Formats: sequence, C-alpha cells, structure tokens
Amino acid sequence: MFELKQKKAVVTGGGSGIGRAIASLFAQQGAAVHIVDISEAACEEAVAEIRAAGGQVVAHACDVTRQDTVHATFAAIGALDILINNAGIAHIGKADTTSEQDFDRVIGVNVKGVYNCLHAAIPRLRENGGGVVINMASVASWVAVADRFAYSTAKGAVMAMTLSVAKDYLQDKIRCNSISPGRVHTPFVDGFIAKQYPGREAEMFERLSKTQPIGRMARPDEVAALALYLCSDEAAFITGSDYPIDGGFITLNS
Ligand code: NAD
Repeated sequence: MFELKQKKAVVTGGGSGIGRAIASLFAQQGAAVHIVDISEAACEEAVAEIRAAGGQVVAHACDVTRQDTVHATFAAIGALDILINNAGIAHIGKADTTSEQDFDRVIGVNVKGVYNCLHAAIPRLRENGGGVVINMASVASWVAVADRFAYSTAKGAVMAMTLSVAKDYLQDKIRCNSISPGRVHTPFVDGFIAKQYPGREAEMFERLSKTQPIGRMARPDEVAALALYLCSDEAAFITGSDYPIDGGFITLNS
C-alpha cells in the first residue's frame, strides 16, 4: 500500500519543514520528486538529504508568486502526477495593524502562488490522464486564530480553491484535497517564536504546544504521512475534502 513508484510529484516549499518531510517520504515511497522552492540553500539541503537516503529528487529554485517563472519551471519538469501546493509564509496582525504591503505579500505567496502552480500544473495533469493535488490549508481556514488576519484570509481562500478545483476537474480525473494542520514544529514556527518573543523562546514553545488539546505540536512527518495517503491510489475515492491534523485544535478547544 501507499506506493508512489512511477509517479512524479512536485512539492512547493519542499526545501523546509512540512514540504521537506513530504518530499522525503514521497521519494522513499518511490516517487520522482521535484522540489520547487524560493530558497536555493534549502533546496540544496533537501536534495542532499533525500539523495543520501537513496531517493530520486531534483530541486528548482523558483518564486511561486511569479507566474512566468512558475510556468518555465513546470515546463522544465514536464508531465506530472502529483502537485503539493505547500509553500507558504506566516504573518501576525489584525485587520488594522496589517500593512498593505504585508497583506499583498501573504496573499501573493499563500494564494496567488497556489493559483500559479495550479495554472501551470493542471494542463499537465490532464494530459497525463489525471492526478492528485493537495493544498496546504490550516486550522485558520476553519476557526478564528487571534492576530492572523492576512494569514487566515489566505488560508480560507486555499480551502475554497480546493473545492473549486475538485469540482472543475472531476471529468479529468484530477482529485484535489487540502490538509489543515494545527501547529507543526518546523522552522516556520521557530522563526515566528524567535521574532515575536525574543528571550522567551522556551516558554512560548511550551505555551504554543499546549494550544493543541493533545498537548504538543505535530511533527512534519505526521503531516507527510497524511499527504502520502491522500496522494496514493488507496485514496482514489477522496476528492473535495479537507483533512485537519491538529491534535484536537478545531474540535476540542472549548
Ligand atoms: P517553512 O517555513 O518551514 O517552509 C516553507 C518553505 O516555503 C520554505 O522552504 C520557503 O523557502 C518556501 N517558500 C516561501 N515562500 C516561497 C515562494 N514565494 N516561492 C517558493 N517557495 C517559497 O514552513 P512550514 O511550517 O513547513 O509550512 C508549510 C506550509 O504549511 C505553509 O503553507 C504553512 O502555511 C502551512 N502550515 C504550517 C503550520 C505550522 O505550524 N508549521 C500550520 C498550518 C499550516
């Protein structure tokens, strides 16, 4: 079960965190993995790690906000079976404390970046006879998370895009689902804590861990295991759904 032999998978933001864990697991399961990430350093690290484990991987330094660059990258990748729209950035702020520049930046990566990759990948998935798309949403797509105005706006859009794509490409045999993680221990979270709470990192790590009723953050490999299931042939009946993986954040936090 859950084999990805003969499959080509594109993982955006595959250089770090959740995306890297997905790229590693998919390569381990036999996929030819293409990492698309803005950070050349992260691309190099991920490629070295995956190749050392015997996986097949190529990295493409690419900013998902730029449609021309995204199209050139997907043209170089060619036919594909799986697209994981995972690249994303965080932002803290309420409606009146979020600058126009920050709002545009978050929407640019987290929404337009997803659209750009869909725009480039869907014709190739269709020509290939179908495939699977996973979009990385968030618990912020479901419930109010304080101080996350732009981020929540973007992740709500990601969930709506998932439904739209799942409906529009049913006949093309393209399945599209999203994953909504609670807090996952990645450089994304470490960077946020270091920036927002300098000197109080340990205390804040503990506090953020406890916002999951289960008492800890997720590990990136736990999210990767869910992505693997959803992209496998075993999940052939699943489309147009969102899968929270959140230690009870959405349903048990009252
Ligand atoms: P991360 O910061 O560890 O990794 C994100 C990767 O995306 C990085 O390698 C970065 O270089 C890349 N990236 C950023 N902007 C890009 C751009 N314009 N073009 C191409 N690549 C770009 O983050 P993570 O924690 O692994 O998060 C991955 C996804 O999961 C994001 O969409 C995030 O919103 C979502 N998510 C994360 C958490 C969490 O707690 N970590 C929770 C819910 C959802």
